[in-house]
Amino acid sequence: MTTASRLRVPIKPGFFTVPDDPNALPKFLATRCESCSEYFYPRRAICAQCLSEQTVDVELDGRGTLYSYTFVHIPLFGSTNIEHMDGYGVGQIDLPEGPRIQAPLAGKQAEFKIGQQLVAELDTLREDGGRDLVIVRFRPVEAAR
Ligand SMILES: [Zn+2]
Repeated sequence: MTTASRLRVPIKPGFFTVPDDPNALPKFLATRCESCSEYFYPRRAICAQCLSEQTVDVELDGRGTLYSYTFVHIPLFGSTNIEHMDGYGVGQIDLPEGPRIQAPLAGKQAEFKIGQQLVAELDTLREDGGRDLVIVRFRPVEAAR
């Protein structure tokens, strides 16, 4: 467990929430079209399906189904986290609302299989001026903390 006192900030704003509670799960910042009910991630002002401008910001739970994945056997770029040195997995995860999210995977290759239920969590990429820069990644639901 990391120290709870240090401020956590997203590596890039506008994509996911960073809850104050270290045990709370991050949510994805998405858009829903009021005209056709389609969901989009990342957010967009105009619906890509029906071109309506009647879109609203929504937060989606970080739970989904593994659609596909691969493992990269080089260190994660920009990370000083020792856990990332052997390489990392990248998955495409389908949220129940529709968007397909590409994100790093937490765990070893043997822990993943297509169709499995995953949950999102925050992971520290590196320290930045006393703050932790965090990314969002997915891990198998069975191994969720
Ligand atoms: Zn629409």
